[in-house]
Amino acid sequence: MTESSQPRVAIIGAGLAGLTCATALRGFADVQLFEKSVFVGGRISRYQFGEYRFNHGEQYLTVSNPLFLNLVKAWLDSGIVRPWEGWIVELDHGKVVTLDDKSTQRYTGYPHMQAISDQMAHHCKVRLSTQIAEVEPQASGGWRLFDDRGAYQGHFDLVVLATAAHQIGGFSGVPAVIADAAARIDMTLCWSALFSFEQPLKLPFDSAFVLNSPLSWISRFQGVEGTHRDDECWVMHASPEWSMQYAASFRGRIMHALLDAFFEACDIDAQKPLTSSVHCWKHALPINTLGQDCLFDDQTAIGACGDWCTAPRIEGAVLSGFSMADRIMKAIR
Ligand SMILES: Cc1cc2nc3c(=O)[nH]c(=O)nc-3n(C[C@H](O)[C@H](O)[C@H](O)COP(=O)(O)OP(=O)(O)OC[C@H]3O[C@@H](n4cnc5c(N)ncnc54)[C@H](O)[C@@H]3O)c2cc1C
Repeated sequence: MTESSQPRVAIIGAGLAGLTCATALRGFADVQLFEKSVFVGGRISRYQFGEYRFNHGEQYLTVSNPLFLNLVKAWLDSGIVRPWEGWIVELDHGKVVTLDDKSTQRYTGYPHMQAISDQMAHHCKVRLSTQIAEVEPQASGGWRLFDDRGAYQGHFDLVVLATAAHQIGGFSGVPAVIADAAARIDMTLCWSALFSFEQPLKLPFDSAFVLNSPLSWISRFQGVEGTHRDDECWVMHASPEWSMQYAASFRGRIMHALLDAFFEACDIDAQKPLTSSVHCWKHALPINTLGQDCLFDDQTAIGACGDWCTAPRIEGAVLSGFSMADRIMKAIR
């Protein structure tokens, strides 16, 4: 089958779910991804400030499903994923409780988490910086897409909404069966802070789940030795409760509060960071999920996938993307 005779599929959102779906449809459909951001990857975001780098969103991935395990093995073989080497502890006001973590194998992207999405996108057609605002069903079948500036983005036989759940409500034209299901999903909010320090902090761990603190997670970036000054770049995630309580606060205030909380949690003297940044993930993780791998409306040929369908992690997003591709192949047949 030539590419032009293949059904045209639009996938809105180039996070892990959208990229997985696009990759699985290769050879079966002519797929076009649309991504509103300047990068692919969605919530597995990387942040770079000069020579300092941070895994900004997702930190590591875990595997429980055999299908996902196969994919992770392929990522390991190609060198974009490595077993997580970092030492993780539980931390309560400087008191370190070592976690016996041998039961959980963690993996991290190499040299950073976004290596995974970058590689997946390599063979995909992705239109970056394109925010789709309207998906318009056509009486003769298929969909027309328009971006947020009103520009026409093409006609497609099938459409996949691979965005976070709350973003589905932003499209006009989506059938109620999908819009209503997505509207039932609640998401956590997460303030995250990124700090680099000139002096080594000499902490006896690389990452910690933090107890009794505004913070819930802190982690030192473990990048490529010798190429970047990654040794004292710390990512800090505030707990969902604290983040919600200070949802409307000023960034400067959040930054200082999280820096103080970091020194208090580690029980070390404060030092001035070299670089600092703060970000609010307004929709970080789904609190509840759909309990269905993906959604598809046969009548109008539109579907939806993402971590909010399955499980609030990378594995959930990938499995939902696979399932969406499978559902589309059935529809095509
Ligand atoms: C702070 C944080 C820490 C995390 N830590 C971990 C962890 O340690 N381990 C783990 O497994 N998971 C973790 N996660 C969860 C993991 O990142 C997500 O489950 C996963 O990345 C979700 O992928 P997705 O493709 O479903 O959605 P997303 O990654 O949100 O992708 C959706 C994409 O759609 C795009 N988009 C939205 N609307 C439009 C539009 N109108 N037009 C075009 N594009 C659009 C967005 O820009 C985005 O790129 C974390 C998440 C956060 C926020």
